[in-house]
Amino acid sequence: MSILTVTMNPSVDIAYQLPTFKLDDVNRVSNVNKSAGGKGLNVTRVLKEIDEDLTATGLVGGDLGNYIKSQLDQGAIHHDFYQIKGNTRNCIAILHEGMQTEILESGPTISDVEGEAFKNHFESLLKDAEVVSISGSTPSGLATDYYVELIMIANAKEVPVVLDTSGESLRQVLLSGHKPKVIKPNVDELSQLLGRELDKDLNLLKEALQDSLFNGVEWVIVSLGSEGAFAKHNDLYYKVDIPTIDIVNPVGSGDSTVAGIVSGITRNYDDVALLKHANVLGMLNAQEEITGHVNLNHYEALFNKIQVRGV
Ligand code: ADP
Repeated sequence: MSILTVTMNPSVDIAYQLPTFKLDDVNRVSNVNKSAGGKGLNVTRVLKEIDEDLTATGLVGGDLGNYIKSQLDQGAIHHDFYQIKGNTRNCIAILHEGMQTEILESGPTISDVEGEAFKNHFESLLKDAEVVSISGSTPSGLATDYYVELIMIANAKEVPVVLDTSGESLRQVLLSGHKPKVIKPNVDELSQLLGRELDKDLNLLKEALQDSLFNGVEWVIVSLGSEGAFAKHNDLYYKVDIPTIDIVNPVGSGDSTVAGIVSGITRNYDDVALLKHANVLGMLNAQEEITGHVNLNHYEALFNKIQVRGV
């Protein structure tokens, strides 16, 4: 049995490092880094780094889809994507003068036939899965309740789902009768969902998580960046306090946290161990240049400095 990660709109991410970014002029770049991207693939890489058994799936197409598969092969990561007619997208990040300017392609439009075919593909992969993680937005062409359907299929096979998405896709799932086991919004995503501005105030967070929107979702884990996390597990509430660390690049920390949640579930960790494991991985990612990468040498020292308290 293994973990199934789902990335419906992956990308080949290109990072250009420029000393200065000149508008309306030619920018020549020699420092280029290309990688397989998309939130679900970040989760996938971290799961591999912590030695979990997994299969990565989702939709890929065209040369860039092949590039993604070859990158996963290079990392000895098992994958079984569904091939679409459209072309997998590029996302470009220009790193200049301490800033990050991003150009994100929306990606291919998925046909109804492809959407239906992927559901069958997903269902067939569930037979070997003990947990599913679904990350990122739904690609264009698929209905905003597409994740509801994936969760329905997984729940029917009693395979729990960890869902990390936002906006309408998340709302549709929470309004539906098909619940994931875990969701991991950050404060901005939670505020957007509830239509009111939330900050890191614990009383407000606790009250927010009592909203009926979360009924039937076993775990709501709200990540709070440098302030750790606030979590609800059924009727229990926890604050995760983390030490102050020097960070290099926090992009992908939420995805590393999701990897920790999924892994904690497969390892049957208790609440405290699961929350510590998830936060350590988020922190370790923030200490690295590469998105979706952790250096496990520092795992234990950080783990021992995290406090989980009931609130
Ligand atoms: P997202 O990437 O989804 O917005 P967060 O920024 O909340 O998620 O990060 C996820 C986790 O990574 C946090 O709960 C925390 O454990 C760790 N983390 C992120 N940023 C920092 C930071 N600046 N300092 C320490 N830990 C961090």
